[in-house]
Amino acid sequence: MLVTDRKEHLLPLLKTHFGYDNFRPNQLEVIQDVMSTNDVLAIMPTGGGKSLCFQLPALALEGTAIVVSPLIALMKDQVDVLQANGIAAAYSNSSQPYEVQQEILQQLKSGSLKLFYVAPESIGQFDAVFQEIKISLFAIDEAHCISSWGHDFRPAYAQLGSLKARFLDIPVMALTATADKTTQDDIAEQLSIPHASRHLASFNRPNLYLDVRPGQDRMKQILNFLRERSDESGIIYCLSRKSTQLLAEKLQQSGYDAKAYHAGMSTEERTQVQEDFINDRTPIICATIAFGMGIDKSNVRWVIHYNLPKNLEGYYQEIGRSGRDGLPAHTLLFYSYADVVQLRKFIADSENAQVQFAKLERMQQYAEALSCRRIALLNYFGEHVTEGCGNCDICKAPPSYFDATLLTQKICSAVARMNEKEPMGTLIDVLRGAQNAQVFEKGLQHVKTYGAVKEISWQDLQQYVIQLLNQGVLEINFRENSRISLTPLAKEILYDKKPVQLAVLNQVEQQVEKKA
Ligand code: ADP
Ligand code: ZN
Repeated sequence: MLVTDRKEHLLPLLKTHFGYDNFRPNQLEVIQDVMSTNDVLAIMPTGGGKSLCFQLPALALEGTAIVVSPLIALMKDQVDVLQANGIAAAYSNSSQPYEVQQEILQQLKSGSLKLFYVAPESIGQFDAVFQEIKISLFAIDEAHCISSWGHDFRPAYAQLGSLKARFLDIPVMALTATADKTTQDDIAEQLSIPHASRHLASFNRPNLYLDVRPGQDRMKQILNFLRERSDESGIIYCLSRKSTQLLAEKLQQSGYDAKAYHAGMSTEERTQVQEDFINDRTPIICATIAFGMGIDKSNVRWVIHYNLPKNLEGYYQEIGRSGRDGLPAHTLLFYSYADVVQLRKFIADSENAQVQFAKLERMQQYAEALSCRRIALLNYFGEHVTEGCGNCDICKAPPSYFDATLLTQKICSAVARMNEKEPMGTLIDVLRGAQNAQVFEKGLQHVKTYGAVKEISWQDLQQYVIQLLNQGVLEINFRENSRISLTPLAKEILYDKKPVQLAVLNQVEQQVEKKA
């Protein structure tokens, strides 16, 4: 080791090579962990400074750091910046000329590189070389791509699964900006780093107002929304290319400077629209989700989802493009059942449709939440938060709640007594004392809480269970048959008698009407 992992030794390195005076949240902890040769799983929001988490240890440790990254453009950008800072870094890309490839290979073999970037598809090529040289660490960027439970599964990542076994003593770092709890577990499993220390930077963006409204008369609602926001920049996300165009036209007819953006447009057109938006020439963009990746515009004041996103990962990333400057931003999601139907049709044809369906269902449950939206969102990403945020539509106009401590204890106890192995349907059946084959086959009629809440109808009980999911008391494990398990909060409720409030049902319709 060239430098110890003490903060006072790392800070000068940070200053000389990167020009920064201090670490961002979690960076130091991640760096220290990997420098103690621990495997690491780091979840940090976009812009949180993930690259530094492997770049700095790469400089501090002996040998070459191998960085796996899925996008050539990103690799090139990072390597350019590193080289400009005088750091020996290179990337491998099959489109490089033969001579260049040979030269990089020589550098790699000689051990002169501090960082070597490679795409997951090409990593196999370097196997023999990797065995010969001293490797400081493996960093897997966009690590959610290895999980078929994530939202961007890439089969090429599967090759990375055997790294740990082949390079036993070398720490593996997995980094990503988006992974729900299930995906986090799966990344660790797929990379064979079950004991990886996990660093979960807070996903909370308190300045984003979270608003969900019924998707009726969306156009009228949007015009009302825009009337109070004449000079502000914003993005409207739509499901289809066609609707981005239609919407942009309608807004233009109403006197707004709006442009469409989607993957069907030529590269020049897209670049133009993007530049105009970034430079405040076009305030409103109606776009498909193709828009926004890599766009660093700090003063986006609002994001509207014209349609329901496919999952909470996507939703979170898209709303996250507003309010980067830390000033208040308004995010508005239109929720209509027709969108759910449409999305289900798309998903039916896709790979791992089952996971996608489950994620869509969770998205829907979020849209129907009766308690703080931020609590629901953050818990989905594994951040256990229990305090209402005061900056979402529900916190602003809460429904009536009742003391549901006893009911929640019964529900949690049933989950515990079934060893956290059963999905929502079975849980409800057991609580209601259902006499069906499913229950009897598994002998669940012997569970102590069998029939403990007979008095509540199936549908209502389901709504309560969903509320408990949204409040972060229970969670769904998509990987394992969507089984329901308890969170640390559930344990406080069961053992410390922490009180729980649930929303009185049948207010949903009233709420919807109130807002429409
Ligand atoms: P991510 O990959 O997590 O989206 P990056 O690694 O690209 O984020 O970092 C985002 C930006 O933050 C970059 O411009 C980077 O130079 C900057 N940055 C990273 N660490 C620090 C730090 N400790 N202090 C100041 N700026 C930082
Ligand atoms: Zn809230």
